[in-house]
Amino acid sequence: MMPSASTNGPFDRLETRKEYMRGYLQQYRHSNRLRLQLYGRKWRQQNRDRYLAIKRRSYIRRRDIALAYARKRRLELQKRVFSMLGGCCVACGDADFYHLKLDHIRGKRLCARLERRSATSGTGLYIWLINHPEFTLREAQLLCHNCNQMKSLFPAQFYRHFPQVK
Ligand SMILES: [Zn+2]
Repeated sequence: MMPSASTNGPFDRLETRKEYMRGYLQQYRHSNRLRLQLYGRKWRQQNRDRYLAIKRRSYIRRRDIALAYARKRRLELQKRVFSMLGGCCVACGDADFYHLKLDHIRGKRLCARLERRSATSGTGLYIWLINHPEFTLREAQLLCHNCNQMKSLFPAQFYRHFPQVK
């Protein structure tokens, strides 16, 4: 006897089929990641105006979500960089995350030049610092806002007060 057309087992139910397809696509994307990346890059290059229009539209629609996500990501990266650097002010020992600030030991401009990059703050900087721990430990330290202000406004007094700080 021929099986009737409607016996596709569990795939009869739309939800099951959707779930299956979702899993399948996820798997496909995972195992073809590089190929899809290259394809996407090529498409974006060839359809630059269309790509930018789509990007702009979706950004406008999802602006709040995108900004919240970016903020959360930046905060997580910042926490990672701060814990790399000991997690407390190197001068007074204040360990409150919200009191702390990344101090470029030899100045922001020089660090940017050493890093050969123009961005000196934000997500991009944190990612770079995480990927270059040797540079980070050599050129950056944590100071609380108080100590940071003191270092920049009254350096002589600061170094007399905290001779161990660079
Ligand atoms: Zn301090």
